[in-house]
Amino acid sequence: MLNLVLFGPPGAGKGTQAEFLIKSFGLDHLSTGDLLRSEFAAGTKLGLEAKSYMEKGELVPDEVVIGMIKSKLESNKDTKGFIFDGFPRTVDQAKALDEVLNENATPISGMLSLEVDKQELINRLLSRGKVSGRADDQDQSIIENRINVYNEKTLPLIEYYKPQGKHFGINGMGSIEDIAGKLIGIVEKL
Ligand code: ADP
Repeated sequence: MLNLVLFGPPGAGKGTQAEFLIKSFGLDHLSTGDLLRSEFAAGTKLGLEAKSYMEKGELVPDEVVIGMIKSKLESNKDTKGFIFDGFPRTVDQAKALDEVLNENATPISGMLSLEVDKQELINRLLSRGKVSGRADDQDQSIIENRINVYNEKTLPLIEYYKPQGKHFGINGMGSIEDIAGKLIGIVEKL
């Protein structure tokens, strides 16, 4: 089984690149951002709780996202592998994910980390906000808060995966196809 963590700051292109990896390797996509937004759209208790964090650009509490991911893993047992997008975002989430995957003897194969300059991230998110309608993409101070939260709580995950030989850094500036090509090249060798 091929289990990939697609990693990078908000606006790095994780969702876009996930599409290419899904097509090339037949993986199931698990995006916690998408899952949380659909919980909210369905008006669930979890979705309503998550919304207050998301609209401020804060992380949703670990127990909420971990519980949600666990139930998705349970209900997708017949898979070639998963692409985790926007998860894990804290070291505790990474540990919880490893626990579940180890129970099934299907560990993370690699962490693909997209690297993009801060100003480029802000520009990309503001333009996405104009078309997506996502409130958290329309306000520069919320965007900057998400980038700060990423630097403080999520970036340390590189040091979690690196000693395991699973971290791969990729320049995320350039054409979408070139970046996809680089990612596919790395995954083919895993
Ligand atoms: P982006 O990566 O562009 O910020 P996402 O759609 O991945 O967008 O996430 C949107 C919001 O959902 C985050 O700002 C955060 O509030 C919440 N969220 C998503 N994934 C997680 C996670 N793994 N842990 C905590 N909060 C999360």
